[in-house]
Amino acid sequence: MNPFELMSVSEKTTARRALGPVDPGQARIKRPQFLAGGTNVLDLMKAGVTQPSRLVSIAHLGLDGIAWSESEGLRLGATAHNADTAYHPLVSQHAPLLASAILAGASPQIRNAATNGGNLLQRTRCMYFYDVALPCNKRAPGSGCSAIGGVTRQHAILGASPACIATHPSDMCVALAALDALVEVEGDSGTQLIPFTRFHRLPGENPEHDTELPADALITAILIPPNRYAGNSVYLKIRDRASYAFALVSVAVGLDLSEDGTVRSARIALGGVAHKPWRIEEAEALLADQRPRGAILDRVAERILAGAVGQGGNDFKIELARRLIARAITVAAQGTVTNDTACKDQREERQHG
Ligand code: SF4
Repeated sequence: MNPFELMSVSEKTTARRALGPVDPGQARIKRPQFLAGGTNVLDLMKAGVTQPSRLVSIAHLGLDGIAWSESEGLRLGATAHNADTAYHPLVSQHAPLLASAILAGASPQIRNAATNGGNLLQRTRCMYFYDVALPCNKRAPGSGCSAIGGVTRQHAILGASPACIATHPSDMCVALAALDALVEVEGDSGTQLIPFTRFHRLPGENPEHDTELPADALITAILIPPNRYAGNSVYLKIRDRASYAFALVSVAVGLDLSEDGTVRSARIALGGVAHKPWRIEEAEALLADQRPRGAILDRVAERILAGAVGQGGNDFKIELARRLIARAITVAAQGTVTNDTACKDQREERQHG
């Protein structure tokens, strides 16, 4: 039993002050934390991975709005629920790729409770991270990595380090990386916007740090700038079960096509393969002025997967990712696959046996 204090606040500055200054003498796992939907925080506490001395509930800060403006694009409140975001008409209209990615994750019950800010901060589901009897550099820095040489089906093929081969578990974040999202955070030095592709980090020698979020900062919103990908986008996810399973590999693609079918610009991000959503802008540039089919798809996949290394149990991911990238670009070139489309296709498949 680990006793903790639960505080509820209604003002952002009070929320940040309630975390208190970082005490270097306090064990990292004991540090006070924000609580929003709690879908990952409470699991971590139950497993003993974290034992925060205080939880500061931010559910009543009024950060749950979803809005659109021509200048800013989509503004998604940090405490808006994942389900409310995915089904919001503004998100369907301006970022159907995001709606599809959110609905590919977790379960309806979890999406009802989980929040947008919390989705960004969820921690890896590496099984060794959750087993406090085993070494894990992310949980206990310097203790070792039990996954290396262990069961690695869910682990990274890109950007890993000798200290950690974990993957980021989010589907939503893969679409946000593809859509050039910005994370709005408020800290002692004011409000800043962190480009999404720089928000999460690779493990390097310090896998205990998942993000570049300053210790005193609160995520207030996620911004998605106006984009031209709503008409040709898709999120494809390969997993071990059809529901409530993390991606082995997922691919988010958005294409901006000219009237003659050539690519004006492309966005491609991968999930399930690295410590953060994986995006290689050089690979996207290869598609410019090209028709998205044939040999160019292999070149794009090759560039995205340059340097990919398996750990034994996940070697299959390299070929799987190569095929899924080509498939996702091909599908996106035909139009946007929304969840309504996917459900209709599944219904028709069932009807026709
Ligand atoms: Fe821990 Fe990372 Fe190794 Fe998993 S892969 S055991 S999270 S250090």
